[in-house]
Amino acid sequence: MYFYDSRGYGDFFNMGEYSRMGYDQIKKKISIFDTTLRDGEQTPGVSFSMNQKYEIATKLNDAGVNIIEAGFPAVSPDELKTVKHINRDIGNICSLARCNRNDIDRVIESGSGIIHLFIATSDIHMQYKLAMSREQVFDKIIESVEYAKSHGLNVIFSPEDATRTNMDFMERIIRAIDVDTVNFPDTIGIMNPMSMYYFIMKIKEFTHKKISVHCHNDFGMATANTLAGIMAGADEVQVTINGIGERAGNASLEEVVSAIYGFSDSYTDIKMEKLYSISEYVACASGVIPQKNKAITGENAFSHEAGIHVHGIINNPKTYEAINPEIFGVKRRIVIGKHSGKAAVKYILESRGIYKTEDEINNILKIIKNENRTVDDEYLLQVVNNE
Ligand code: MN
Repeated sequence: MYFYDSRGYGDFFNMGEYSRMGYDQIKKKISIFDTTLRDGEQTPGVSFSMNQKYEIATKLNDAGVNIIEAGFPAVSPDELKTVKHINRDIGNICSLARCNRNDIDRVIESGSGIIHLFIATSDIHMQYKLAMSREQVFDKIIESVEYAKSHGLNVIFSPEDATRTNMDFMERIIRAIDVDTVNFPDTIGIMNPMSMYYFIMKIKEFTHKKISVHCHNDFGMATANTLAGIMAGADEVQVTINGIGERAGNASLEEVVSAIYGFSDSYTDIKMEKLYSISEYVACASGVIPQKNKAITGENAFSHEAGIHVHGIINNPKTYEAINPEIFGVKRRIVIGKHSGKAAVKYILESRGIYKTEDEINNILKIIKNENRTVDDEYLLQVVNNE
């Protein structure tokens, strides 16, 4: 057990000698900023009801999320109402705003204590989206941050498309603003773990402000890039449940938090045993079901079928499990199919108090293998009864 990991979560990870090598370990708390209700809701085809948003915010708060981005109050009166409603009962709320008075005023009206201010800073976004020069964008940022601060808001500033922003321009902005946190969005997911590490190290050369990262999954690297950001010294991570979000989505909260315990000496305030029920609720409310082979929350993440694997798992789960599913309060699943061996059948039957001879088990296995598909425990028991 690691000194800073007071819940002993580290013990649930079966890592190897090299798993934690390659960078200087930092022992600190990583703040978890969840944006399921904002970036997550920007998933094509997803829109939560007010009740669903309230329910998700409550669950995130119970699970120990440090900051919940509840929404973007300027988008509609309903959104503003929802954020107000969530803010009334849950304290650690953040709301999104563009760098303009109207958006900031809606955040003030919502009651959020934290504002997430953003404006695009990459040349391509400034030219084709904002039609603004660097000077105009710079002035807008200064003016908006001052306005938000003068209303007592805690400010998180995001230079949108940061990973394609000119570094000198970004340095000038970050040096000029007095904010609590700067968040670096990899808006279109074009970083890899090595470049992300280098990018955050570069930023640390000119600022001591709190650093946050926001990674997208366009190359399937959102979790890895988020972890690389942490390894380079980021203090906060912006994530979503099940990794939902624009296009291929964001870094997933459950994967990032697991990676923090698996690969680093840092820790979080997250109560791991609460994550499955949030994942299920968000899957239901969003209609976006995690792919079967998704890490942590996919249906197969803790399932085993192949005979050799199951044999190992039965003797000692550490043989084929990187993460003990009990950390999430769930059980591993042994599935019977054409790759199964006697050990799996014997294990499932004996866990139900049914004892069979070697010949009988061989016979049952033969029948199931002839089916050429995966069968559930119910079917297995049916075969046993028919024999
Ligand atoms: Mn995003």
